[in-house]
Amino acid sequence: MAAEVVGAENDEETPKDIVVDWMADWICKMEVIRPELLRAVPVACALRGLRRPTAKAKDLYRSSVQTVRIDEFWSHSWQRKSWKKISSLLFLKRGLPAGVMGTLAALIGAAVSSYGLLPPSVPFGTISLWNTIFGFLGFFLTLFTWPGRERIFLDACCIHQSHARSKAEGIRSMSGILKRSQKMLVLWDKTYAERLWCMFELAAFVKSRGAGGMAKGHLAIRPTLLGPCVLAIVLSLSSFFIILVCVFSYGWDHMELLGGVSLAVLILSYPAAAVFRGYFHSVHVLQEQLQDFRLSNTKCYCCTVKHVTEKGVPLPLCDREILTKSIGIWFGSGLNFEQDARSVVLECLTEQLGHNYFPYWLWLVATSPILWIFLDITVKSQSRPGGAWSDQWPFWFISAWGWWMGAVPCCGAAFFHICKVLRTPWKTRWMDRAMNLLVALVMQPIFGTSFLIIRLLFQWPLPPWLSGSISSVVHIALASLVWNVSAWTRQLGLAS
Ligand SMILES: [Zn+2]
Repeated sequence: MAAEVVGAENDEETPKDIVVDWMADWICKMEVIRPELLRAVPVACALRGLRRPTAKAKDLYRSSVQTVRIDEFWSHSWQRKSWKKISSLLFLKRGLPAGVMGTLAALIGAAVSSYGLLPPSVPFGTISLWNTIFGFLGFFLTLFTWPGRERIFLDACCIHQSHARSKAEGIRSMSGILKRSQKMLVLWDKTYAERLWCMFELAAFVKSRGAGGMAKGHLAIRPTLLGPCVLAIVLSLSSFFIILVCVFSYGWDHMELLGGVSLAVLILSYPAAAVFRGYFHSVHVLQEQLQDFRLSNTKCYCCTVKHVTEKGVPLPLCDREILTKSIGIWFGSGLNFEQDARSVVLECLTEQLGHNYFPYWLWLVATSPILWIFLDITVKSQSRPGGAWSDQWPFWFISAWGWWMGAVPCCGAAFFHICKVLRTPWKTRWMDRAMNLLVALVMQPIFGTSFLIIRLLFQWPLPPWLSGSISSVVHIALASLVWNVSAWTRQLGLAS
């Protein structure tokens, strides 16, 4: 081993040094060795690739095609569970079409059921849930099958994993591939900043845009816990509103049923509190990691196995030497890169994830079942037992949008804030559970107030369309205030 160590005072370059220099020079040129190495796959194939079936490495590679330009480069660490990454990507890539298609399907359900073409009461109570059922079918079908046109670069699919030479060439061409990628999506988990290759990809992408060339939207950084969080919102809020519809179905004016509703809020907000406290903690960890980011603390495979493969074959070159040399050439020094990584990534995070670290559009997608459930109530209030159309349906139809885009996001913002304040995990499991319960309990009066507002407006002696409009305008205005307040205070320089 001693023979391999190159002393700083030794001016003569060893053959190994020459190769390392040559490799680093090549990487810094940001070129692709052969045009066939620039490859991309559709989103669906990339999602399959993330499941990492190493036995099918050849099939994965065959699913990629040669291209001249890549729409998005997915950068991620292989260290964490893939289902979190896959669920995050499903919502990020297909969430918007899924929300739109789900809502269209719910509207079709509303049209079909209001003309009496479907059994009136499914599955229980006096309110049918046809719109919600149609909505969920449309939503999840789109989420799992939407054919996106984006061309994605994912290492598992676009670099030949079972052919040693092609694999080496692909890795050497990585900076060239990044230069030809329009955007980069970083799936961040705790291990990302610890992996040298991940941070190298980030460095190469930042470098390829040139000084000040990083336009808005080129780099997206999302915590991998995003997917489980969106799923938690979809499941907990839709279950809650379905319970609410049942309660409503058996008599809205029975105040004693509010006890049941409040119990449902408690039971459903508890697991959501656990997931979101974890989410905010992970975002906080991400920020801390960036503040302390040092290239020397990153790990790479070759150094972890002490430059000897499982079969005992020595690895001739060290990735760390080559990559840190490349970064040194690009940024002047490793220190400059560390500073750039901190500022660029932190700026990106603050800009993209905003005050609540959760985009509003994604919140609307996750809570779209609420709109469908309100459509069910609208259909119910359209027809009275005698068949005559009730005059209350405009109230429900109009206030449905206010609930979806205003009242529930207000409650969501409050929920986020509490989860963020109480995000730190406790040492004992019981204390941690008590914190989740505390979040769930604090949500009770907040939910309750929203219900009372709608109940109050419902009883006002106003035309239904007017009270519905007042309810919607008030709720949406309040939500836009709550979701933007931190951005405004930042702009005004009031926040630290
Ligand atoms: Zn090494």
